[in-house]
Amino acid sequence: MDFNLPDDVKMVAESVRRFATDKLLPQYQYWDKTGEFPRELWREMGELGFYGSLCSGDYGGSELGALAHGVITYEVARGDFNSAYPLLLSGGMSLLIEKLANDKIKNEWIPKVLGGEKFVAFCLTEPGSGTDAAAMITKAEADGDEWVISGEKASVSLVMEADALLVFAKTKLEDGSSGVSLFFVPTDSEGFDRSPYDDMGHKAVKRGSASFQGVRIPKENLMGTLGRGFPEAMKLFDIVRVLLTLMCVGAAEQSIDETGIFIKEREAFGQPIGKFQGVQFPLVEAHSHVELIKLYCFKTLWMRDQGIKHTKEAAICKSMGQRFCIDAIYTCMQLHGHSGYTSDLPFQQRLRDTIGIEFADGTSQVQKMIIAREQFGREILSY
Ligand SMILES: Cc1cc2nc3c(=O)[nH]c(=O)nc-3n(C[C@H](O)[C@H](O)[C@H](O)COP(=O)(O)OP(=O)(O)OC[C@H]3O[C@@H](n4cnc5c(N)ncnc54)[C@H](O)[C@@H]3O)c2cc1C
Repeated sequence: MDFNLPDDVKMVAESVRRFATDKLLPQYQYWDKTGEFPRELWREMGELGFYGSLCSGDYGGSELGALAHGVITYEVARGDFNSAYPLLLSGGMSLLIEKLANDKIKNEWIPKVLGGEKFVAFCLTEPGSGTDAAAMITKAEADGDEWVISGEKASVSLVMEADALLVFAKTKLEDGSSGVSLFFVPTDSEGFDRSPYDDMGHKAVKRGSASFQGVRIPKENLMGTLGRGFPEAMKLFDIVRVLLTLMCVGAAEQSIDETGIFIKEREAFGQPIGKFQGVQFPLVEAHSHVELIKLYCFKTLWMRDQGIKHTKEAAICKSMGQRFCIDAIYTCMQLHGHSGYTSDLPFQQRLRDTIGIEFADGTSQVQKMIIAREQFGREILSY
């Protein structure tokens, strides 16, 4: 067994860490306070090739693979949790487009998305359906050479900045998940509208709702097979749970490093507080938990690169990892004493940001249901 990162991934990780430390970390809190969208920096990350590890060279990808994509995500999140979003979205959506869209969409969109010029968001959740996604009621009706999309999607990350959306809709409302298909919808289409939420974190990313009132798209914007949108997209998507976890790992690890410096400087009772085991031990526990989860995430991505099924492992990453990381950040805040509670320091923001990952791509309950199904068999599921 070789636990070293491959040399090419190590090199990429080092340069991404420099970028994240110099350009992202100093602005992490600024973007939270202003809610500004860092378009230029996200474009720069695209131009530097950060988003392309999952995609083929035919469309501007680097083909470095899932482990590399995860390592870049984690390094970016150490500087700015929210700037890791395009790794999820631009990286993840380009993968879906490459595997499921027609050549025209692939050629036109993937290079621009990987280059940070255009953004694509993902529309699955609806006001009335989240976990039970098959209960969605957004419709796609055939009309001549077009699909007509009608309905409302909720909780769409980056909705306000997206140039196109991947939208799940039913061609037969009476069918469950077997009636769901995936469509490519540019946001300049007539009948499309959007509005932002006032979230507690992820301020620069902005989540919101997307409404489709008879939005017309060409027939060929159906992605993949009619009625197979769910299984075809989800098969590619276990990776997202690992990337979401690695975003939390990056934020937690950065917090632990900052706290490691602080406890050597801050004094109480005539010595640095780091000399007290009551200070050392919680930080060591936080560090140990985050190390364990990071290693498990990397293993899961390595499995993906080897073509090994990793559905259960991805769910374990998310269900355990996010909790470990939140606890670690909370410990760091606590060890900073009263100043940890101010908005001058980033711990409160890192808590607000990492908590949001609890829901994205399935809550921890859902991850546990997946682990149960994969480990013990479908017969123990309640539906
Ligand atoms: C920061 C953030 C980003 C997001 N980004 C996107 C995005 O880009 N695109 C998108 O489509 N969606 C996105 N989501 C939505 C996310 O996928 C949903 O919130 C999630 O799937 C849960 O759905 P829900 O919120 O409707 O909760 P519900 O499904 O209504 O569930 C409510 C509660 O009941 C629990 N529950 C439901 N069913 C069961 C069960 N069978 N057993 C046990 N517990 C159960 C849930 O765990 C939860 O605690 C995002 C959410 C957040 C917070």
